[in-house]
Amino acid sequence: MALLLSGQAASKGIGIGRARVLEVGGVEAPEYTLEPDQIGSEIERFRAAVAQARAGLRTIADRLEQQVSSEVRDFIETHLLMLEDDALVEAPVEFIRGRACNAEWALKQARDQLMAAFDQMQDDYFRSRRDDVDQVAKRIAGALANRESRTLMAEDDSLADTVIVADDIEPAELTGLADRGLAAFMIESGGPQSHSSILARSMGVPCIVGVRGARQMVSEGQLLIVDGERGFALIDPDGERLTRYRERQVEQRRRQSALQRLASVAPRTADEVAISLWANAEQVKDIEMALRNGAAGVGLFRTEFLYLNRNSAPDEDEQYAACVATIGLMGGKPVTFRTLDVGADKQLNLGQDPHEPNPALGLRGIRLSLRFPDIFRTQLRAILRAAALGPVSLLLPMINGCEDVLQTRKLVKEVGEELRGAGIACDPNIAIGGMIEVPAAALAAPQLLDILDFVSIGTNDLIQYTLATDRGNQAVARWYDPLHPAVLRLISAVIDTAQAYGKPVALCGEMAGDTRYTALLLALGLKDFSLHPRGILELKETLSKLHRKPLLALKRDILAATSADAVASVLRM
Ligand code: PEP
Ligand code: MG
Repeated sequence: MALLLSGQAASKGIGIGRARVLEVGGVEAPEYTLEPDQIGSEIERFRAAVAQARAGLRTIADRLEQQVSSEVRDFIETHLLMLEDDALVEAPVEFIRGRACNAEWALKQARDQLMAAFDQMQDDYFRSRRDDVDQVAKRIAGALANRESRTLMAEDDSLADTVIVADDIEPAELTGLADRGLAAFMIESGGPQSHSSILARSMGVPCIVGVRGARQMVSEGQLLIVDGERGFALIDPDGERLTRYRERQVEQRRRQSALQRLASVAPRTADEVAISLWANAEQVKDIEMALRNGAAGVGLFRTEFLYLNRNSAPDEDEQYAACVATIGLMGGKPVTFRTLDVGADKQLNLGQDPHEPNPALGLRGIRLSLRFPDIFRTQLRAILRAAALGPVSLLLPMINGCEDVLQTRKLVKEVGEELRGAGIACDPNIAIGGMIEVPAAALAAPQLLDILDFVSIGTNDLIQYTLATDRGNQAVARWYDPLHPAVLRLISAVIDTAQAYGKPVALCGEMAGDTRYTALLLALGLKDFSLHPRGILELKETLSKLHRKPLLALKRDILAATSADAVASVLRM
């Protein structure tokens, strides 16, 4: 019978494919001979690695909560027992001693012998244990190599119909996996609002996250169905299930192509209120899709993706060229470039402390840019120059008060003067907006709107910081509640304040593209939604079925609601 693993839905769609299990590393083993006086310390090194592997696995076991199926627990317990087993632990020690070889080589010999023995067995159950040997050996090898991160598959590796099963995938790694035919992701950690989940959605690849014990349960090459709607995966599905899921896949594709009829339709509610749908973009491909689906413009261009996956920051000309390409493609529609937003889970080494004690509260977003003014100036120069060519505005991430804006304005003014002085075309009067993603910024919206031209509500971070709940930490996922009264009050207050100031307000967090929240956001008065362009057509369809006016009348009751259920029942009224 197919085994079911549950997690959280992070990117819609059904993915069917063969598992590619990403370990923290492989068992590639160098071989070298030791001097007699090195043997003792090599044995110690090997034993320390085994202890480390055991501790790592113990931590995973302890983190698993009761709801995890007993099979997952059994797997881990088996691996823990193997880490006590002489065949894997003492045999390599004997190799090191007897052959004066290094620990990695000794481990590989012991592993190969054991796996060969399992291969000989007639019994399926015992034969399958060879995979356990392999996984446990990899764990020890990882500890020996002191490996913290792995290198993902080589560029030319085919990933067609592959389901990537991993502990976690960083945004920087994910960007290298786009357009390679992936069937799905199945990730052990993270939550639906983590940057990796957002990227999986933008790649259009089904993804489930928070699948505890996934790498223990799935073997390389196994057939998997990943249900990105309902948040679970099936291992080795039977023919009947496979047929059913393939039919659902076809049905989804059919629905997706049926939505195409809305591409050129202007977004409106059922009571004929015009709504603006803007695109969140990270790369040129997103811009093309934004245009195809009729976006009003780019509401959020995450410029950090120009910086990730490389050794040094792009220079002014490269950034300028990327901005110009975007503006050119948008053909006169406005583009909002958000300045560099790295830190926390999007790491980029600019010279800051890589081991900040609390990165989410550390040098992130605008703080990092202000801390490294040379890098910031370079980016500002590129954007200001590009702004001479079309309607462009600047969006500042992670501001927490007026000082961040004033300092940036000063830099923008200096950079503008510098460019003009050198006779370089630019727009020094570029509109400057702020992301509202920190509660302080939401509460200080009146002061901020005095000095900003527009605001954009970044609910992904606003929820995380309001509720003190890491957006990427599976262990606290149930506290990450977009419908928490505190979150709704902040969103509502920002919309009201901006409207009172007569300044544009958009919402560009994942809530904007999640049609479960469309009625709610309309009720709070939102008219500008910024979302990944892939979701634009579905949002148009949802909007066309909702009446804005009666929803607006529910605002007071929504804000008085004490729970997500209560909000839902107000909206059903
Ligand atoms: C947000 O925080 O809602 C947002 C849009 O920014 P990012 O997801 O890039 O942090
Ligand atoms: Mg953010």
